[in-house]
Amino acid sequence: MDPSRLQPHASNPTADNEQDNNNHRITSRRIQRLTLHLNPTSSSNPQLQLLTCAARGKLNVSTPHLSMYMRGKYRDEQQKVYDFFKSRPELQTPVEISKDEHRELCMRQLLSMVREGGIRPFKYVVQEPGRYFAIAEAAGILDVSFGVKLGVQYSLWGGSVLNLGTKKHKDKYFNGIDSVEYPGCFAMTELHHGSNVQGLETVATFDLLTDEFIIDTPHDGAIKWWIGNAAVHGKFATVFAKLMLPTHDTKGVSDMGVHAFIVPIRDMTTHETLPGVEIQDCGHKVGLNGVDNGALRFRSVRIPRNNLLNRFGDVSRDGKYTSSLPTISKRFAATLGELVGGRVGLAYSSVGILKIAVTIAIRYALLRQQFGPPKQAEISILDYQSHQHKLMPMLASTYAFHFATTNLVAKYSEMKKTHDEELVADVHALSAGLKAYVTTYTAKSLSTCREACGGHGYAAVNRFGSLRNDHDIFQTFEGDNTVLLQQVAADLLKQYQKKFQGGTLAVTWNYLRESMSTYMSQPNPVTSRWEGEDHLRDSTFQLDAFRYRTSRLLHSAAMRLQKHTKTLGSFGAWNRCLNHLLTLAESHIESVILETFIKAVKRCPDPSSRAALKLVCDLYAMDRIWNDIGTYRNVDYVAPNKAKAIHKLTEYLSFQVRNVARELVDAFDIPDFVIRAPIGKQTPVEVYTEYRQQIGF
Ligand SMILES: Cc1cc2nc3c(=O)[nH]c(=O)nc-3n(C[C@H](O)[C@H](O)[C@H](O)COP(=O)(O)OP(=O)(O)OC[C@H]3O[C@@H](n4cnc5c(N)ncnc54)[C@H](O)[C@@H]3O)c2cc1C
Repeated sequence: MDPSRLQPHASNPTADNEQDNNNHRITSRRIQRLTLHLNPTSSSNPQLQLLTCAARGKLNVSTPHLSMYMRGKYRDEQQKVYDFFKSRPELQTPVEISKDEHRELCMRQLLSMVREGGIRPFKYVVQEPGRYFAIAEAAGILDVSFGVKLGVQYSLWGGSVLNLGTKKHKDKYFNGIDSVEYPGCFAMTELHHGSNVQGLETVATFDLLTDEFIIDTPHDGAIKWWIGNAAVHGKFATVFAKLMLPTHDTKGVSDMGVHAFIVPIRDMTTHETLPGVEIQDCGHKVGLNGVDNGALRFRSVRIPRNNLLNRFGDVSRDGKYTSSLPTISKRFAATLGELVGGRVGLAYSSVGILKIAVTIAIRYALLRQQFGPPKQAEISILDYQSHQHKLMPMLASTYAFHFATTNLVAKYSEMKKTHDEELVADVHALSAGLKAYVTTYTAKSLSTCREACGGHGYAAVNRFGSLRNDHDIFQTFEGDNTVLLQQVAADLLKQYQKKFQGGTLAVTWNYLRESMSTYMSQPNPVTSRWEGEDHLRDSTFQLDAFRYRTSRLLHSAAMRLQKHTKTLGSFGAWNRCLNHLLTLAESHIESVILETFIKAVKRCPDPSSRAALKLVCDLYAMDRIWNDIGTYRNVDYVAPNKAKAIHKLTEYLSFQVRNVARELVDAFDIPDFVIRAPIGKQTPVEVYTEYRQQIGF
């Protein structure tokens, strides 16, 4: 095929766009002036207090200033991790590695970082979670398997001991977990039950005579499955099982609900599997092969009564059960509530992986040249509108998610300090929503980035394959994304009900208080036609649009649920409205992300960085509105002329962001040795050379 046939038009489409935008700006100003004449009261409308938008020409972005703002207070901690691994090349994960070697390497990476590098994350899990997540993110950026291995040891196994146990457990296990003398597992999932934790069937029966619990796998469906660290390295497991207590007449047992128990699984000296415990390797996986997932069966394994992690429920020597929480479901909620840290960490780490992918794809797109106007030099592939469309909204989303997850970590840290009830509820729903939304987005983007790098994106050395395969499961573990979004929807409906009963709303949902009454009315037919750039780039309009959509979805979901419950019951009604509820949850999370981003833009002290962030934030908002333009059109929130203006502005902003794309990815401040992909390095001159050398040519 003659490649010249693929050449784009000689005229510059982005220049056409600029002309179109100028015309639109002039027209829309006229309409707005006319509107003011026709409707003078609207002058009090805050939407008319228009923001000065970022300059129309190329922005002057100071990467060091922007980077400083983005770094956050734990960047030095991450640098320590990077420096340690840079000094130890033998610990870096090679491109080709077998499953068994990878598992051993990940264990060595963890042990060396902790024991030789002196980087000990465990104490931060509760004391200073922000620092812990920063270390975990850096580990995951080096090798996702290493990040997950670290998370299993400290957040899952260690976190369960600290958060579900009491002082005696901390005293006994802290040092061993910290130094990795006690490598451990978190054994919740079973062969038959993953998402439905309440349905798990492993039992822990209290034996009054010996003062022990007997852990049993009653049938093969209850075998613990997918348990990280179990196949090779784990010595202990936190096992989730139904607590069975003998009844007073000692003829039977009563089920007290799911509790967590520390069960030793391998001998401390010989590393042999302990009597009654059977372990099987879950085998080669689609990704994350540096983590040794295994299956565990228990045949009457006896553990001391003290091994019950007893923060929310305890059993006395004479078999009496005590708890500060009155019901099984309250205890269950409290137990799972303590485990949200894993979700916070996954959301945060997922953004780290997205940053790597976006950096590689954008740097490569700036370097790579294909085609060009007749008889002229070839142009960079990032100058194609289609390429900008693929990568620029993704870059904007990466920034948006960066601020959203940093804010989540701050809230989680505050929650760990104060245990404030409202904050607990807020963090619970927000972590579920952000984990689901961000990891789904990153998983899709990894494929887009691979494709955007053409054939060279397919070379393993350029990392997309391993990043995509390793990250993919982030959508499933620590709560399946579809299940988590339903928790967000359920919470929104609870808040909606509260609002009508005059109760207080959780912090993150506060906007619903004002918005519900405003948004239930019909959209303003005048503002729905406003199409000026100043108006569209006004954060008041943008937030209003996001919240309008969420409020409408919430209101209509509540109405539909009420109607269907009468005939289908609550479970059936929920299922009948499920897609609607998932859209509602996503819409809400998008509103929260935008709100956080707008605040972060306003807070930024350096004017040039603030202007760059404002540009990126506008692109994030316009792209999301455009993606769901059908919804806005259906209810006439946006008239046809405005929809067209939004589309044009999205393309125009993508072009503007393209002009500072290099600076924007440089501001992520990820060292070349961490990026590793030859096509994604900061120094473009040597990229092809290094790439060739990597395959020995
Ligand atoms: C690599 C890896 C590591 C893991 N590590 C651990 C570990 O260390 N410890 C541990 O305990 N577990 C671990 N897990 C298990 C993991 O947490 C579960 O796989 C996860 O919770 C999902 O459960 P499931 O596999 O049963 O999926 P299912 O719940 O069976 O989901 C299957 C599909 O059904 C859909 N679905 C399920 N319920 C609903 C619903 N109510 N509404 C709509 N759709 C629904 C889901 O969206 C999904 O698409 C790991 C898993 C993997 C693959």
